Amino acid sequence: MKRRYPSWGRYPRAEQEVVRVGWRTDSFPQYALDGKTALPRGNGRSYGDSCLNDGGLLIDARGLDRFIAFDPATGILRCEAGVLLVDILALTVPRGWFIAATPGTQLVTVGGAIANDVHGKAHHRDGTFGRHVRRFELLRSGGTRRVCSPTENSDWYRATIGGLGLTGLILWAELALKPIANPYIAMESIRCESLDAFFAVSAESDQDYEYTVAWIDCTARGPSLGRGLFARGNHAPEGTTNTPRPPGRGFTFPVELPVSLVNGLTLRAFNRLYYNRQREARTQSIVHYQPFFYPLDALLEWNRIYGPRGFFQYQCVLPGADGRTAVREILERIAASGEGSFLAVIKVFGNLESPGLLSFPRAGVTLAVDFPNRGKPTLALMEGLDEVVRAAGGRLYPAKDARMRGEDFRRAYPAWEQLEALRDPAISSSFWRRVTR
Ligand SMILES: Cc1cc2nc3c(=O)[nH]c(=O)nc-3n(C[C@H](O)[C@H](O)[C@H](O)COP(=O)(O)OP(=O)(O)OC[C@H]3O[C@@H](n4cnc5c(N)ncnc54)[C@H](O)[C@@H]3O)c2cc1C
Repeated sequence: MKRRYPSWGRYPRAEQEVVRVGWRTDSFPQYALDGKTALPRGNGRSYGDSCLNDGGLLIDARGLDRFIAFDPATGILRCEAGVLLVDILALTVPRGWFIAATPGTQLVTVGGAIANDVHGKAHHRDGTFGRHVRRFELLRSGGTRRVCSPTENSDWYRATIGGLGLTGLILWAELALKPIANPYIAMESIRCESLDAFFAVSAESDQDYEYTVAWIDCTARGPSLGRGLFARGNHAPEGTTNTPRPPGRGFTFPVELPVSLVNGLTLRAFNRLYYNRQREARTQSIVHYQPFFYPLDALLEWNRIYGPRGFFQYQCVLPGADGRTAVREILERIAASGEGSFLAVIKVFGNLESPGLLSFPRAGVTLAVDFPNRGKPTLALMEGLDEVVRAAGGRLYPAKDARMRGEDFRRAYPAWEQLEALRDPAISSSFWRRVTR
């Protein structure tokens, strides 16, 4: 069956056949290959081409959507790989458990979260998603089924976490959740007037706050470069009062616009308004976990505002002390270019090791910026940012990428050859072909 299965950034476009798996004892859909390669597919929340397989087959795994077991005494959950994080939280939050490392959207599958070894606001405390995966079952195209954990088939475990779907189809996984007293977060929002202020607040927050992240105005320049709002929080303790009502259902952005709404004018206006929405130096509040972790999920299909040409997300991590200078240089280049982003997010990652061979996070500062696709100028800007990342010994996040050079990928992820050796011969992706050839 041919259907459009775009990635979140809607760039690049791909032509691919789709086959569905609906049960964890199904066999690998070998019959559909017909000389082509296949790629497992979750909920398509990766921005670039790591969830695309142009000219090949996608194995839509969202039909693997059942819970298998949950122990409310220990917080151990076993579920199929197509279960969405939003459904896990609906089951476990009322029973006092939360996902230990959650990305900025709850609309991703467990299989997708493992394959990109996703990270979130708690990286400095809890590391990546993969650290909380106790075991999973992997189905290979030859029909082999392997249960993988840190101690069983550990090579496959390490290759599959952050393995971009290339080692086989994950059928189910067992996750360790973390205890909470209620669905609320006690949060503080701090106005930071510069990049230095951001780094100071970040350093002071790591010890006492489970969650830290900042939104920054990437159109600001000069002494205001890197100004933004720093959010930090902890799960609210038992007995918290004056709690807010849970948010209602989100809205869906109704149509794909013929042209992008995002341009220099709207970007500057939005960024200024957003920064100035908080006049006080700091505010404290009790909020429901949904707006705290997943503010963008309130507007479903918001990627449509970028119009038919789609958009890019550029996310890098810059290690060590030089990372700060490099991030400043990147922000200067973005502000000078006039290209820019509604959503520029910055965080300092901690030094907890990721279990995956190709996991993206490492100790350092990470910056994620969206750019509307304006063709050549946007690509030229990102090529320039690559120079800075390269010189700082940093790397880009494959889950967000649609255009990095193969040599940059191979330099920054030297374990790629180990993954290649364990890759299922029937599995490939547009991303993998682009960066390994
Ligand atoms: C608004 C928004 C915010 C985000 N915030 C963050 C963030 O804070 N941190 C972060 O790390 N990421 C973030 N992301 C990216 C997102 O978390 C990842 O791209 C995630 O992997 C997407 O999961 P998915 O289920 O949509 O999988 P897809 O995008 O469909 O696929 C992702 C990868 O998983 C593989 N895969 C999927 N299912 C299986 C399976 N059953 N077996 C084997 N492989 C499989 C695919 O082959 C592909 O390589 C964000 C994305 C959006 C849209």
